[in-house]
Amino acid sequence: MSEFDLIVIGGGSGGLAAGQRAAEHGARVAVVESHRLGGTCVNVGCVPKKVMWYAADLAEGLRDAAGYGFALSVGGHDWSQLKEKRDAYILRLNDIYATNLAKRGVTLVRGRAGLLDRRTVAVADTRLTAPHIIIATGGQPVLPDIPGSELGITSDGFFELPERPRRVAVVGSGYIAVELAGIFAALGSETSLVLRTGAALKQFDAMLGESALKILGEEGVRIDAHAVPEKLAREAQGLRLAVRDGRQLGPFDCVVWAVGRASAVSGLGLRSAGVGCNADGFITTDKYQVTSTAGIYAIGDVTGRAQLTPVAIAAGRRLSDRLFGGKADRHLDYHNIPTVVFGHPPIGTVGLTERAAREDYGDDNVTVFKSSFVPMYHQLTSRKPRCDMKLVTVGPEKRVVGIHVIGPGADEMMQGFAVAVRMGATKADLDDTVAIHPTCAEELVTLR
Ligand SMILES: Cc1cc2nc3c(=O)[nH]c(=O)nc-3n(C[C@H](O)[C@H](O)[C@H](O)COP(=O)(O)OP(=O)(O)OC[C@H]3O[C@@H](n4cnc5c(N)ncnc54)[C@H](O)[C@@H]3O)c2cc1C
Repeated sequence: MSEFDLIVIGGGSGGLAAGQRAAEHGARVAVVESHRLGGTCVNVGCVPKKVMWYAADLAEGLRDAAGYGFALSVGGHDWSQLKEKRDAYILRLNDIYATNLAKRGVTLVRGRAGLLDRRTVAVADTRLTAPHIIIATGGQPVLPDIPGSELGITSDGFFELPERPRRVAVVGSGYIAVELAGIFAALGSETSLVLRTGAALKQFDAMLGESALKILGEEGVRIDAHAVPEKLAREAQGLRLAVRDGRQLGPFDCVVWAVGRASAVSGLGLRSAGVGCNADGFITTDKYQVTSTAGIYAIGDVTGRAQLTPVAIAAGRRLSDRLFGGKADRHLDYHNIPTVVFGHPPIGTVGLTERAAREDYGDDNVTVFKSSFVPMYHQLTSRKPRCDMKLVTVGPEKRVVGIHVIGPGADEMMQGFAVAVRMGATKADLDDTVAIHPTCAEELVTLR
């Protein structure tokens, strides 16, 4: 039996952050990881996705170059070479994570962990014990429960594709679906985005989903709306997707399911430790990340809340500061979390949607400012995607409670504006800020 102050199950974004911070405070820490260090984000999420986004962004730039006087002839794109370089970069990151743990004296245990009781974790024949255990096991993509779904792939499979499929369907309406459809389309695949309803990005301000679908359509993505998948089958010409109203979509060379993610809790022994989950299978916690069992905590995607890397990291670090750093009330405030959808163009958002603000504060207390324009960059290109912006304010002082942008630079723009929203900035504060010209961002401080 090995004894520690803290055992972390899962060496992904949240687990690594929590484990390292606890060790910095002097705790004896073990991190148990069953696969590759870095978890979803590093191996099959944010990082390889952003590499693909850069490639797609370059592809668009190459197409736009003619508008700026370049006479380019591009000799195609080598997906397999890109994959090779991307995979090598990720392997380097995996090593860096192992080194970082070692530097802080964290014990890395390789294998699948299960709880035996509220203090004991089993990894194969090894027994680890600690008064504090953090569950940071993340999640995994789900397949729809329809015949033939196994013929499709998920986002995990996307990162294994050795070649770019010529004809592809991405099924789903969330940010991962929008991002993957954008990447395929920009790199040259005939792409369909298959939606159960008529909308995408439903968790975001409605303006963003509407603009994203419009721009994807203009870029040649076929939007198959109101298409509820019923069956996927392989035929001579490729994969056919049958949908509820009788339409047969395809043929496709590849179908990507981006229809949701489930918590990774199977085999964890939650019941033996008295750890409870909600109806959707995510571990429930209080605001201090404590589960239904004292001494056992859950952070990150496994809790189902704001499933983003910086959220998992922030929750983990704050928890370790509280447990081992003497900061008794330290916890993560889940409000005003900024996020970006790496579409083409990117989408940046923070705070309340217009709808949520109206529900929370009442119509009379909400004032919305909007702008829609063709960005300067596109004045010279043949394609003209619009930049759309929305500022949601509340009360007579017009406190900014939401900012939503789709357009060039929205990804880099939002971090700074998120600070302002968090600090309680009003419309007058934004108006008093001198603009940076010429940028898209300046619109946010000149809205009327
Ligand atoms: C395609 C895609 C793109 C994304 N893009 C972004 C983005 O751009 N920005 C962003 O902020 N977020 C993004 N995310 C979300 C982000 O990846 C997750 O929110 C983040 O990785 C969650 O961290 P975590 O620590 O909770 O879980 P994970 O990073 O998933 O780590 C969990 C770890 O636990 C391990 N594990 C599971 N069970 C056990 C067990 N029983 N024993 C031992 N180890 C176990 C797993 O192997 C894994 O390594 C993306 C996700 C996907 C799928």
